Amino acid sequence: MIQTKEPIVIIGGGMIGATCALMLCQLGLDVHLIEADLIDDKRDNTRPYDLRVSAIQHSTESLLKSLGVWDGILQRRLCPFHAMHIQDWTGLQTQLNAHDLHEPVLGYLIENDVITAAVFDQLRKQTRCTISQTTPQSIFRNDQGNWCVNLHNGAQLTTSLLIGADGAQSQVRAWLELEQDQNDYHQHCIVGTVTTEKDHQHTCWQHYRPEGPFALLPLAEKCCSIAWYLPKEAAQQWLNAAPTARNQAMTEASAHMLGTLTAMEPLAAFPLVRRQTKHYIQENSLLIGDAAHTVHPQAGQGVNLGMLDIIALESIFRHALAHHQPLYDARVLIKFEQARHHDATLVQRGMEGLNWLFSDKPLPMQLRKLTSPLLHITPFKTLLAAVGRYGRLTGSLKNNA
Ligand SMILES: Cc1cc2nc3c(=O)[nH]c(=O)nc-3n(C[C@H](O)[C@H](O)[C@H](O)COP(=O)(O)OP(=O)(O)OC[C@H]3O[C@@H](n4cnc5c(N)ncnc54)[C@H](O)[C@@H]3O)c2cc1C
Repeated sequence: MIQTKEPIVIIGGGMIGATCALMLCQLGLDVHLIEADLIDDKRDNTRPYDLRVSAIQHSTESLLKSLGVWDGILQRRLCPFHAMHIQDWTGLQTQLNAHDLHEPVLGYLIENDVITAAVFDQLRKQTRCTISQTTPQSIFRNDQGNWCVNLHNGAQLTTSLLIGADGAQSQVRAWLELEQDQNDYHQHCIVGTVTTEKDHQHTCWQHYRPEGPFALLPLAEKCCSIAWYLPKEAAQQWLNAAPTARNQAMTEASAHMLGTLTAMEPLAAFPLVRRQTKHYIQENSLLIGDAAHTVHPQAGQGVNLGMLDIIALESIFRHALAHHQPLYDARVLIKFEQARHHDATLVQRGMEGLNWLFSDKPLPMQLRKLTSPLLHITPFKTLLAAVGRYGRLTGSLKNNA
């Protein structure tokens, strides 16, 4: 096995960076993980719900199970969902069910900080992993072509492979001068926890409105996470509004799918931007997760795409190690870009297609009307349920089932 003498350096220990570090340690590699924030390992199920919640699909569940993380999530908390209810303001309605796929669930709603805490549980047991709570100050390449990372804690690390997992505003991406295409949706998403009048029935509820969708994602009995998509100014207005007026607006935006909604403070709004980095790799370095790509979150694909980056990396690195190839070799790194770039673009385009399909423009309105009878035909519904469970119809279905 050809290994680098120095550890692989990962900058960013969010869900994707930390999971990647764990995967690399389990491949027998040394890793130094740099994370700016303090990781709360003690995250348990007595705390209020995290504002950030992710819908986890099959490929992510399989990866987390294979890395030994799933039990740590189960010991904290998650909520399985068996169905997805979709409706729009014109009366179109359908429900996609796990039993159409002969599966017990379509996916799980898990708080982001539960996932990170469970990953860090495992990571701290790895003797091959060093974790530093700090940020990088600068990076440069030395005469041997290795990356030197100067940290704000005064340390300097040298590595032959640098991984940027520092999220959508990636500093690593800027340092590597990797260009990015961006599309600002001029939309914000308000997230938070609400109590609901009616039981959620372990179903994800999505109501499409001309301003953007409103989603209710099950967390616990009569308790859901919301994703309320609005133009930026309206999102700010509702965040600052009096609770009674806001609850009423929220209930109306949800089309009363689960009756009256009451928000548990706090709520927060996130700007929505599609980002695609032209190249995910540079000499001796690569980007994963939101550092490489971001998608519109309406179908809950962001974390799942980042986890697919890790699944691809695991298989490429395993193959390289078996063939005594250095992991930083350009011929190895290019395989990662080839495996992931096109897939992320497809998902991004798919989300934009959904935005268009559920808009109030005449053509998509007509199209929805014409195709709505299909939504009651079981094979078609099964196909859509498969996209919900597996994120796509090919690729991850074959590789990660
Ligand atoms: C409203 C909303 C809802 C969403 N819902 C879903 C969903 O249901 N399902 C889904 O799959 N995805 C969803 N997503 C997307 C998902 O949240 C992201 O794809 C995911 O968080 C990306 O993880 P990451 O680890 O790549 O980046 P991040 O979560 O941004 O983590 C980056 C990490 O790097 C650290 N960091 C940053 N800069 C530095 C630095 N200079 N030095 C050291 N550390 C640094 C940060 O502290 C952080 O821990 C949603 C997104 C939004 C906005």
